[in-house]
Amino acid sequence: AASLPGTLTGLVVAGFGRHVLVETEDGKRVICHPRGKKGQALVGDNVRWLPSQDEGTIEKVDERSNVFYRQDEMRTKSFAANLDQVLILIAAEPEFSESQLTRALIAAEAARIKPIIALNKSDLTEPFGRGWTKLAPYRNMGYEMLSLAIKPKTDTGDANQAQTDTLMALIQGKKTLVLGPSGAGKSSLTNLLIPQAKILTAEISQALNSGKHTTTSTTLYWVDAARSTALIDSPGFQEFGLNHIEPMQLANLMPDFKRHAQNCKFYNCTHLHEPGCGVINEIKSLPSSISAARYRLYGELFEDLSQTRY
Ligand code: GDP
Ligand code: ZN
Repeated sequence: AASLPGTLTGLVVAGFGRHVLVETEDGKRVICHPRGKKGQALVGDNVRWLPSQDEGTIEKVDERSNVFYRQDEMRTKSFAANLDQVLILIAAEPEFSESQLTRALIAAEAARIKPIIALNKSDLTEPFGRGWTKLAPYRNMGYEMLSLAIKPKTDTGDANQAQTDTLMALIQGKKTLVLGPSGAGKSSLTNLLIPQAKILTAEISQALNSGKHTTTSTTLYWVDAARSTALIDSPGFQEFGLNHIEPMQLANLMPDFKRHAQNCKFYNCTHLHEPGCGVINEIKSLPSSISAARYRLYGELFEDLSQTRY
């Protein structure tokens, strides 16, 4: 890397608009502002920053291994980078939305980040019950998944097949972005793994806001003292940004569609109506292979992405 005189290295651990909190290698945290476009950083970015008084200026953002997007009103915005995986947290009860799950999976696939599906609130159903059964098609697509009871209603020890050890092993040494609809248990998970999270959040918003009104921000929390395992939490949003995806790419991001699309007659098949379509043929010969609901969702997403091209 080109040497930038006087700059220090750091990791962005919280984002608030254009301002971020940068953590130095010795664990100090400094508010930084970007120097122009080049200094605009996301949570998870490795940056070069220049100290000035008790704040800093970001001079350069290191090359990213990946970027995750969220939907912000009409715009798709990037908000986290250099993730090892995405934990999609959904609840067994009330029943999770397959449409939301699918959108989250597509967002992860598009960013080339490994998704893990965590079915929380398993204490509210029988062991590996209805919610788990509903996940069978996703298991067949090759997605890793586990059953959790982060905050069981009645603590019965090993609450109904909660795979807490599996979760700990999966996140060990990695940076994991936690996503999921509100109410699924995201903050319960953060508070369980990072007991001081609430204090950190308060400190961060106080430091970053400097008197302005409080807004939730994306935050990276270290799970361990050695700072090797991190959870990235982004409260207050449920919409995954998909608008940056080309409609023709969609089937590539859905493993079951991708498998059968290899048999399509036309290279530019949309899998919506073409003759000789591998996906449509598969559904005709084996209706259970891709559910009617999932095929419908593909069509809806395809149309959405076609209309929002810009
Ligand atoms: P968030 O909106 O995703 O951050 O969800 P919260 O962590 O705030 O959890 C929403 C509600 O679900 C709270 O009342 C939690 O106590 C409850 N909850 C979280 N995990 C579990 C669980 O494993 N079992 C049950 N029964 N309730 C849970
Ligand atoms: Zn096709």
